Amino acid sequence: MSNEVLNSLLKEYDQKKLRAELDLEKRKENLYNQVPKLKKIEDDLNLFAITTAKNILKTNTSSIDVLLKKVTSLKKEKAKILNELNLPTDYLQPFYTCKICQDTGYIMVNSYKKELCNCLKQKLLNYSFNKSNLSNLNTQNFDTFNESIFSDEVDLSKYKFNISPRKNITNIKNSCMKFVKNFDSINQKNLLFTGNTGLR
Ligand SMILES: [Zn+2]
Repeated sequence: MSNEVLNSLLKEYDQKKLRAELDLEKRKENLYNQVPKLKKIEDDLNLFAITTAKNILKTNTSSIDVLLKKVTSLKKEKAKILNELNLPTDYLQPFYTCKICQDTGYIMVNSYKKELCNCLKQKLLNYSFNKSNLSNLNTQNFDTFNESIFSDEVDLSKYKFNISPRKNITNIKNSCMKFVKNFDSINQKNLLFTGNTGLR
């Protein structure tokens, strides 16, 4: 897989992530104008998050308990308001296409190691699949195979075979079908297709 493909997919991811975050800003603005109380709750929650972090650093456990209680009650109040407006509880979060990697394409395995998220793996697979022409399988398969487009004329000087092209292609088709049928067998040998560049 070339880096070019991965880089272009990651650019798409950056765009998706940015769109989701800009969309959140717009939704927030509209909602806060409609319900200013929600803006106050969000500001308080942000402030408490900073204060809690500071108290953790100071190991001030009694203050942390008080703060956590306030945070829980504010979150409940926020959920109640959203519920009354028939909005989902995650309405004030970005609507990422992939909730797992938040449209970054990567997930952290631990604090220093990250790996490709399944959504990005799938996109890379789709790319290889399309490039290999395997995506045409629903229209190009044994059932739609039409040997009648090959001539049934036997002409050694013209076709370099002492059988007709139709008979030849039918033999090839039968060998391929046998290969598919016995694919799981350890005695089945590989198939090798050769020809001039561009032929398929
Ligand atoms: Zn993902």
